[in-house]
Amino acid sequence: MGPLSLSRYIENIPIQLFPGWKGPVLAAVALSIFFFGYSFIRDIIHPYVQHKQSDFYKIPIEIVNHTLPTVAITLLALVYLAGQLAAAHQLYYGTKYKQFPQWLEGWLQSRKQLGLISFFLAAVHVLYSLCLPLRRSEKYLLLNAAYQQIHANMENSWNEEEVWRVEMYVSFGIMSFGLMSFLAITSIPSISNSLNWREFSFIQVQTCLTRDGKG
Ligand SMILES: Cc1cc2nc3c(=O)[nH]c(=O)nc-3n(C[C@H](O)[C@H](O)[C@H](O)COP(=O)(O)OP(=O)(O)OC[C@H]3O[C@@H](n4cnc5c(N)ncnc54)[C@H](O)[C@@H]3O)c2cc1C
Repeated sequence: MGPLSLSRYIENIPIQLFPGWKGPVLAAVALSIFFFGYSFIRDIIHPYVQHKQSDFYKIPIEIVNHTLPTVAITLLALVYLAGQLAAAHQLYYGTKYKQFPQWLEGWLQSRKQLGLISFFLAAVHVLYSLCLPLRRSEKYLLLNAAYQQIHANMENSWNEEEVWRVEMYVSFGIMSFGLMSFLAITSIPSISNSLNWREFSFIQVQTCLTRDGKG
C-alpha cells in the first residue's frame, strides 16, 4: 500500500461508509425527485386544475410506480452511456492509453453501483406492479366500468389490440427483469471472481444489448 505516510489513509479504509455509492445514490435521489414531481404535476395537479378531478389517492402507489421504472431505466442508460463516451474519447485521441478526464473516470467507476440501484428500483417496480390489482381503488374503478358498460348496453368489451399490447408489454417486462437479474447475480464478488474477463464482459455487455434491443 505504499510508504508509511499513507498509514492515515489506510487506517481510515475500514471505517469508510460505502465510499463508491455517494454519487450514484445522489443521482438516483435527484432523478426520483424530478420524475416524481413531473408525474405529480401531470397526473394529479393537471386533472385537478383542469377538471376539478381529485386523483390524490394515486400518490402512494401509481405515482411512485411511474417514478420507479423511469429512474431505473435512466440509471441503466447512464451505465452504458459512460462506455460510449469512453469509446468516443479513445477514437478522438486515436489511442486507448490516454487517461480519461476525472469526471468520466469517476462515472466509469460507479457503473456497478448505478446498475445495482437500477436493478433495485426495477425489482421494487415489479412488486408495486403486482400489487396494482389488489387496490381498493382498482375494484371501484372496475365496478364503475362494468356499470357503465351495462348502461351502454355493451355485452363484450374485449379489445384485441389492447389485449395484445398489454400481453407483449408484460412479457417483455418480465424478460427484461430476468436478464437484469442475471447481471445482478454476476455482480456478486464470489461469482464475478469465478469468471474471467471475457466471460464477465460477455454477460454484462451481451445481456444488456439483448435487453436494450427488446426494450
Ligand atoms: C444489474 C447490473 C449489475 C452490474 N454489475 C456490475 C459489476 O459488478 N461490475 C461492473 O464493472 N459493472 C457492472 N455493471 C455495469 C455494466 O454492466 C458493466 O460495467 C459493463 O461491462 C459495461 O460494458 P460497456 O461495454 O458499456 O463498457 P466497457 O466494457 O467498460 O467498455 C467501455 C469503453 O472502455 C474502453 N475499454 C474497455 N475495455 C478496455 C481495455 N481493456 N483497454 C482500453 N480501453 C477499454 C472502450 O472504449 C469501451 O468502449 C452492472 C450493471 C447492471 C445493470
